[in-house]
Amino acid sequence: MKTFQPVDALVYPRFSGIPTFMRLPIVTDPHLLDVALVGVPFDGGTTYRSGARFGPREIRVQSALVRPYNPVMKMKPFNTLRVADYGDIGINPLSIEDTYQKIEQGIQTIIDAGARPFAVGGDHSISFPILRALGKKHGPLGMIHFDSHVDTYDEYFGFKHSHGTPFRRAVEENLLDPKKIIQIGIRGHLYDESDFDFNREHGITIIPIEDVFEHGISYVHKKIQELGSGQFFMSFDIDAIDPAYAPGTGTPQVGGLTSFQALQLIRGLKGIDFVGCDLVEVSPPYDSSGITSLLAANLMFEILSIL
Ligand code: MN
Ligand code: MN
Repeated sequence: MKTFQPVDALVYPRFSGIPTFMRLPIVTDPHLLDVALVGVPFDGGTTYRSGARFGPREIRVQSALVRPYNPVMKMKPFNTLRVADYGDIGINPLSIEDTYQKIEQGIQTIIDAGARPFAVGGDHSISFPILRALGKKHGPLGMIHFDSHVDTYDEYFGFKHSHGTPFRRAVEENLLDPKKIIQIGIRGHLYDESDFDFNREHGITIIPIEDVFEHGISYVHKKIQELGSGQFFMSFDIDAIDPAYAPGTGTPQVGGLTSFQALQLIRGLKGIDFVGCDLVEVSPPYDSSGITSLLAANLMFEILSIL
C-alpha cells in the first residue's frame, strides 16, 4: 500500500542541503513514488561537442529556484504527484552497450514498482534503452518529440547507437508506433534531402519550426490531437529551443522555439497518457550563466504539471 506524503513540508528544509531536482526529497525506493526524477549522466553517444554528462548535476543546482505553485495550470504538481529525486543511474562512460543495459535495468526497476520515470540526460542516445524498458511493458508507444533534429539516422561512423539514431532503433524494435510519433521544432541544415526518408516511409509526423511560427501553437496541438489516444512517451531535446535561450547544448541549431513557446506547447499536452519522459542534451560546459539548465529545470516543472 502506497502512502501519500505531501512534499511541501519537506521541500524548504532541504534548500541548503545537497542539490536535488527542485529541492525535492531524495527517495530511492520507487514504490513510494508516482514519478521518479532520475539522472542519466551519459554523453558517450554525442557526435559533436560533449558535456551532457554534467546535465543532471547542473540542472539540480539551477532548479533550486523552482517554486511549488503553477499559476497558469492552477495546481501544485508536488502535491498531486508523489515525485522525488531518485538519484542517478550508474553508467559506463567507456561503453554505450554496457550503459544501455544499465539504463534499461534502472528504468525497469522504476516501472516494476509502478512509478513513471522522468529521465534527465545525458545525450539523446539514452532514450533508446529507456524506450526498451517502457516499450516492453506497454507495447509500441506514441511519442511527442521536441527537437531540432529527427534522430532517426541509421548510423554514424559505422555505428548503430548514438544520439542521432535512438528513434530509428526504437521503431525497428517495435517500441514506438511511428504513426503516433510527432516531432516538433525540426530545422537546420542536413546531409541530404533523403535524411527524412525513414520518417516519410514510416508515417512519422514532422512539424518543422517554420510551421510552428507560421501557424501557431494551437496548430501544433491540433496535429498532436490527430495522433489519437493511447500511451505516449515525451522526449524533450533542449536544442528544440533556440540557442539564444539554450546555448548549453551539443549540436545547436539556430532559428528555434522561444522558451515561452516551449512552455505553451507543454501546457497543451494535459490529458495525454504519458508513461514516461526524458529531457536531454543540456551541456553545462557550453552554457552561459546556467541559463540552459535553468530553462531545463523550468521545463521539468511544466512537464510535471501536465503528468
Ligand atoms: Mn535529439
Ligand atoms: Mn537535437
